[in-house]
Amino acid sequence: MATLIDKLRQFFRLEPKAGGETAVPPPPPPFTDATLTRLMQQVAQTEEGYYTCEETFALLDEYAEMVVSGEDAAALMPLVKAHLRICPECGSHFDILRTIS
Ligand SMILES: [Zn+2]
Repeated sequence: MATLIDKLRQFFRLEPKAGGETAVPPPPPPFTDATLTRLMQQVAQTEEGYYTCEETFALLDEYAEMVVSGEDAAALMPLVKAHLRICPECGSHFDILRTIS
């Protein structure tokens, strides 16, 4: 689940900057209750199967085409939909695909 961990790191902006001292990770920030709640929600959302950005990317073309042609893409590809909900990066890529499809 390295990818999920990476996602969570990005989520909390713990990702070390490129070229930074990656060997020494920064100390974890103090978690507030709100932060912890959001984390738990994200984990709960990703429990039932989870696409990595790579997997989502591979299907995003097809998914965008379905949406554009009026098919129920969310029902046909629920995992793509779920990933788009929690990943702004893929979400914005999807928006672009949808626009040019
Ligand atoms: Zn993604």
